[in-house]
Order: sequence, then C-alpha cells, then structure tokens
Amino acid sequence: MAQSKFRAIIIGGGPGEDTKSKIRTGAGIKDIEATKNGVRVHLTSGGFVDGSIVIGADGVHSRTRDIMQRLAEEAGEGFSGEEEPIVSNYQILYGRAKYVPKVEIGNFFEAHGTYRSSQISADKDRMHFGIYRKLTCPTTDLRKEYSKDEVAEFVEAFSDVMVMPNLSFPELYENCEWIRLVNQHEGLMKHWYYGRVVLAGDSCAQMTAAVGLGVNNGIQSAVLLVNKIQKVLSNDPKPDTETLERAFEEYQNTRREESRVICDIAAKAIRVNTWDSYMSWFLGDVIFPWMVSDEKLMAKAGYELVRGAHKFDFIEGDLKSGKIPWVTL
Ligand SMILES: Cc1cc2nc3c(=O)[nH]c(=O)nc-3n(C[C@H](O)[C@H](O)[C@H](O)COP(=O)(O)OP(=O)(O)OC[C@H]3O[C@@H](n4cnc5c(N)ncnc54)[C@H](O)[C@@H]3O)c2cc1C
Repeated sequence: MAQSKFRAIIIGGGPGEDTKSKIRTGAGIKDIEATKNGVRVHLTSGGFVDGSIVIGADGVHSRTRDIMQRLAEEAGEGFSGEEEPIVSNYQILYGRAKYVPKVEIGNFFEAHGTYRSSQISADKDRMHFGIYRKLTCPTTDLRKEYSKDEVAEFVEAFSDVMVMPNLSFPELYENCEWIRLVNQHEGLMKHWYYGRVVLAGDSCAQMTAAVGLGVNNGIQSAVLLVNKIQKVLSNDPKPDTETLERAFEEYQNTRREESRVICDIAAKAIRVNTWDSYMSWFLGDVIFPWMVSDEKLMAKAGYELVRGAHKFDFIEGDLKSGKIPWVTL
C-alpha cells in the first residue's frame, strides 16, 4: 500500500475533527529536549511542540534514535557504543509496472539465483515487484543514493532473468511506471528508549523485505507500546519519568526478542533466496519444497507468527477472524 494512501486512512480514520487537528504532516524533528515533566520537540520549520513522551517511528534513518542516543550519552549512559551497526548486505530495485495481459493475477512469484532473487505479484491493473542483489561489499552507509548509471548497470545485470514463468525482467522493466534502487538495512537496536523517548518500527528493527514482515513487526511494537502506556495512564494520568521508563523497558524487552526472531527469519530468507551458499541453495530450493508446500508454509507462518500477535488489550469488541482464528497468549 502506498504511504500516501496509508496516511489518508490514518488521518481520516480518527473519531473526528479533533483527531485530525492533532495530526501535523510535513513537520520534521530537529531536536528533543527533556523538560521537568515532559519533552519539548523542536521542529525543522522553527517552533516547538511540548508533550509527555516522544515515540520515534521515523524509519531506518531515525532522527529520534540519534537524538535519543545523544541524550543518553550526555547523561553518561554509553548507549551508542553498545549498538551493533546497521548494515546493508543487499540492494533492492522495487517498483510498479503496468499489468502485462499474459501474466497470472493473484499469485506471488519468487525466483532464486546466485546472489540475486525476485518477487512479483500482479492484480488486474498493476504489477508490484522487488529485485534483490547481494552487494559485493556490505556497507554501513545508510543513505546511499544510486545514480542513473548504477541503476542502468543493475537493470542490465538482470537482462537474462525470468521473474514469472512467462515474463522476463526486460519485459517487466519496459512496462514500469516507476522504480527505485536502494540498499536494504539489517539491524536490531539494543536500546529502544531513554527517558521519555521511545522507538518503534524500522527505527529500532531493520530487515530486508524478503519476508514482507517489516510493517507487521512495526505495528506489533506500536500495539504493545500503546497497551503499556494505556496501563500506566489508567493508574496515573500524569506518570513520572521513572514510571514511564519501567513501562518502556518491559516493552523493549518483549519486542526486542520478538523482533530478533522476525529479523532472523528475514535474514535467513534473503540468503536462501539468493543462494548465499551451497547449503542455503540446498535447503531452500531442494529440502524445503520437498518437505512442505508453499501453502502449508504460509499456513504455518499464520499459525505461529500472526495469530498470537499482540492486540489492543483495553478495547472491547469482537476481532474479525479468518480461517486461522486469533489466540490470546
Ligand atoms: C522495497 C520495500 C518493500 C517492502 N515490502 C514490505 C512488505 O511487503 N511487507 C512489510 O511488512 N514490510 C515491507 N517493507 C518494510 C516496510 O516498508 C518498513 O518496515 C515500514 O515502512 C517501517 O515503518 P516505519 O513507520 O517504522 O518507518 P517508515 O515507513 O520509514 O516511516 C517513517 C516516517 O517518519 C518520517 N520521518 C523521517 N524522519 C523524520 C524526521 N526527522 N522528522 C519527522 N518525521 C520524519 C518519514 O517521512 C516517514 O513518514 C518493505 C520495505 C521496502 C524498502
């Protein structure tokens, strides 16, 4: 789903005008200052906003994370030195193409090869795809921007690849409406909070898109964090920093271990898909398909990963259920 559409749902989905008036788009965080009983967020456009906490869901390049680490360092906590670096081992060329009439609608196709793989699906109007390639050298340069020549080289390197049984990559590329080549980041932060600042989403857990779980993982963090905050507020509408930190610590400890499992699955999946070693090829393309069908694998993932997901524990109501019922753990 395009971010613009998601934003429209979130902004439009609140209980009324009051919610809309509280959402400010296009407001960049410049700095965060701890005040006596709260936080002051300085904006890039000038001015500031006062609040009780900051939740940094500002992505892999998180400014909130940088500021949080700096605030901890200033207070004598050795945060950033304890963090493993975020590393890019893979590139992805992703984008959208016009529907090519001969291709199958509704199925998800994945092609594997040495140090490269592709994922693509089509609906009646469009095709969405991601083409992965292992970098010759891993990098910690998170903001790598690819030039036109580098994109052209990437496209050329896939000229012999079939992305669907009857669709070659060059044919897909001819029909593209837009494409983007970026590095994929892999990493898991040790520290998810400091004082009244707390992280969620890609700002604290990064993985490649190989298993498509980044958004889900981020949403899981958001749900658990909201549950913890709601519990604190139901006991004390104006909690002090220590009380909030205890809730954030519980959140961090639970979600970091859950995210570690998801990040590991994603890390293994991209290495299997791109035949990172003889063993990963053998496991991914010989043993797994022999042991279990794709349908059974997805059902197992649904059973083990999704159905036990965190839910808002303070909202009464019937959860919509599909073939796989929800469980409360
Ligand atoms: C090609 C590709 C395919 C993917 N496919 C899938 C998939 O199929 N399924 C899946 O679950 N995940 C997928 N992911 C991963 C998913 O996109 C991310 O995990 C998810 O978007 C992370 O959400 P987030 O809110 O943490 O960060 P983001 O989506 O990066 O959002 C961060 C927000 O913070 C804002 N921001 C940044 N800096 C500042 C600042 N200084 N001040 C204020 N605001 C700021 C940004 O503008 C942005 O709106 C994919 C990722 C890629 C790159």
